[in-house]
Amino acid sequence: MRANTLFLRLEGPLQSWGDQGSKFVIRRTAEAPTKSGVVGLLCAALGVSRADARRRLVELNALRLGVRIDRPGVRWWDYQTVGAGMQMRIAEAEGKTKPGAMLTRREYLCDASFLVAIHGDPTLIDSLHAALLDPTWPPYLGRKSCAASVPLLGRNDEPGTGEFADLESAIRSVPWRKRAREDPVPDVVDCLLEWSAALPGDSVPPEAEVWYDVAQSFDVPGHQARLVIRRQLTVGDGKDIGLGTPRQNHTPPPPRPRADYANTEYRRKRQTRLDADRGLCVFCKSAGTTVQHITYRRAGGGESVDDLRSLCRLCHDAVTMIEYGLGMDLDRINPEEAKWRDRIIAKRDEMIRFRSLETRRRRLNAEEVE
Ligand SMILES: [Zn+2]
Repeated sequence: MRANTLFLRLEGPLQSWGDQGSKFVIRRTAEAPTKSGVVGLLCAALGVSRADARRRLVELNALRLGVRIDRPGVRWWDYQTVGAGMQMRIAEAEGKTKPGAMLTRREYLCDASFLVAIHGDPTLIDSLHAALLDPTWPPYLGRKSCAASVPLLGRNDEPGTGEFADLESAIRSVPWRKRAREDPVPDVVDCLLEWSAALPGDSVPPEAEVWYDVAQSFDVPGHQARLVIRRQLTVGDGKDIGLGTPRQNHTPPPPRPRADYANTEYRRKRQTRLDADRGLCVFCKSAGTTVQHITYRRAGGGESVDDLRSLCRLCHDAVTMIEYGLGMDLDRINPEEAKWRDRIIAKRDEMIRFRSLETRRRRLNAEEVE
């Protein structure tokens, strides 16, 4: 069996699939990925430049596209100025013009998720799959600023490719998934299935929609029409589309003992630790002003002195930021361990660069006083 269908998961905080009717100053998005947008994404993965795309478009446009709107997302506008400092002239009162910038608006879909099925020649499907596993240029969701938040080829337990009689059966084969356990399940989801005549002379179904989104070139944008059939598919066990396991299973971290920092027992251990460290930050040897828990297992008064390390404020904040970034639970970073060294140094440098001068001055003063 040779796969004739490639599945993509297009999901991210923002997507924008420019539609043909958009003027320069107001750029709208279609409700779902367009064919030119998906073909553009495939060209990026293949490393086909805008200029070279003409040669590949005949072959790529021959693929048929099905889109399932798993989550439609929310429409949102961005505001942008273009042309400031380029001697552009904008309208002023009474028919006059003045130098300025043009205001443009761009529309996005926030938090949408689409399943895309691409159906066609198995050899081409194979090469597209390989290109997406190792893309030449990073693919994006309609605009360069729109990065995907999940792998384009789906999770490891999703098919990626397959052999199907038609687009609809391909689209129906992939279960609909919640992102998190608490997400509601929709009764139906919309699908947009590209229509083409199965036999010469087949008549166009009366409900077919015309989408002007078949790119003829990317260097001089020009689009031709295709026909799209909209279907509503029911979601749930035994329905058109089955239910998969939620994408994320939130297992709550083990409860962390409430650290009672006013507790006298803790205050005593904190001081013992600072004394043991000679009042110095164990990482950078400047004045130690805080104490770090390297484990919260006994926090709040029951901790041993060995559960603590003295740190300066900067090293403490750097370590804490790394811990949050890693989503650490009870056991935290021991800043004395060599394996954390480079990361702590890098995070400290990053924090110093981004902190305002005022904050830095305040921090240095505080440490000098101690
Ligand atoms: Zn330090």
